[in-house]
Amino acid sequence: MRLSGSCYCHALEYKLELESPEAARTSLCHCSSCKKAFGTNYGLTVKVPLMSFQYTSGKPKEFVGDNGSGTILHREFCDNCGSFILEYGDPVRDDFRFICLGSLDEPDALPPKGEFFCESRSTWMPEIPGVFHKMKIKE
Ligand SMILES: [Zn+2]
Ligand SMILES: [Zn+2]
Repeated sequence: MRLSGSCYCHALEYKLELESPEAARTSLCHCSSCKKAFGTNYGLTVKVPLMSFQYTSGKPKEFVGDNGSGTILHREFCDNCGSFILEYGDPVRDDFRFICLGSLDEPDALPPKGEFFCESRSTWMPEIPGVFHKMKIKE
């Protein structure tokens, strides 16, 4: 399955080539690090093999920092419009990318399979039915 995505201003564009929808895992994350990075009450990313992802236009700006629990996190975004494109932890840098779902041109193609850090879920936000729920760790 071939998908494409971009930042808001299209300075950054990318393509995703997945063997199947099973090769991707979309999940919500309610941790405080995602709340800050996404500027909303949860993060929403799709985990894909590094090999399946490629920028086709532009070069992202990278922010590298501690996620609060000792893991170094890389976050890539557009330095023109500010759109957040993807993130990955240093331990999986050669294996996976976590793409911000809304940057896909067709985000509904990859619906969520689970939720992480449910212990930090906003009190007003209901659970997504029919997916896995973990209190903490995002693997
Ligand atoms: Zn942009
Ligand atoms: Zn998180």
